[in-house]
Amino acid sequence: MKTAIVTGANRGLGNEVVRQLAAAGMRVILTSRSGDGASAVQGIQGAVLYHQLDVTDVSSIHELIAYVAAEIGTVDVLVNNAGIHYDTYQNTLTADFAIVEEAWQVNTLGPWRLTKALYPHLRKGGGGRVVNVSSASGSFVDSWAGTPAYAVSKAALNMLTVKMSHDLADANILVNAVCPGWVRTRMGGEDATRSVEEGAKSIVWAALLDNDGPTGGFYRDGEPMPW
Ligand code: NDP
Repeated sequence: MKTAIVTGANRGLGNEVVRQLAAAGMRVILTSRSGDGASAVQGIQGAVLYHQLDVTDVSSIHELIAYVAAEIGTVDVLVNNAGIHYDTYQNTLTADFAIVEEAWQVNTLGPWRLTKALYPHLRKGGGGRVVNVSSASGSFVDSWAGTPAYAVSKAALNMLTVKMSHDLADANILVNAVCPGWVRTRMGGEDATRSVEEGAKSIVWAALLDNDGPTGGFYRDGEPMPW
């Protein structure tokens, strides 16, 4: 049975990605920084396990890696989904650097640290996938979208995706960035145009790519997005 890890999966898109990957027959490790595992996995059918993970906390990452080494072995898919975005409007001149720093820690360094730490346990030689959940806000084409703290952290995540795709190519691990669209979650708000099911599909597409699928790209609904 193939195994996936999903970060920030106690609610929102991450929780739905767990549901869809489990429905596709994978064993899924649902992770969250807070809350109890029992309520996070509640109602999800299939082989779903729970482990605590704060992507900004190095010791928390090490605990997850120790668990994977002892109990799981090889991980086929990593979905770097955890993210933050504060609604408070800021421009580059009014930016609160505590928020800029937090966005960087969660949205950019989180995926970087976790992928680096998990690499020894990721499936090599075909089948390995890393999905970085990004945003159109990180695209240079839509430079008005999102606060600077968020947009800069996601643009950096996009570059990280390309760099990682090079470094993981020898191991045949496909690394892609995905925008789920504007989705009705706590982050996206009630007015967003997409359901979590629709948004999660975009992410799951990149998690379940065939071995000859793309790497180092930025996608929404399986279609390339402008950087
Ligand atoms: P939500 O705010 O609903 O969920 C965000 C999740 O990230 C929560 O589970 C939250 O946990 C978790 N999280 C935050 N910080 C950390 C951390 N340090 N360690 C581990 N988990 C953490 O957002 P969405 O589900 O909408 O967003 C999921 C991803 O999709 C994000 O990367 C976001 O940027 C991206 N995205 C979303 C869009 C949208 O319209 N919704 C549009 C484009 C991209 P907790 O409950 O503890 O806070």
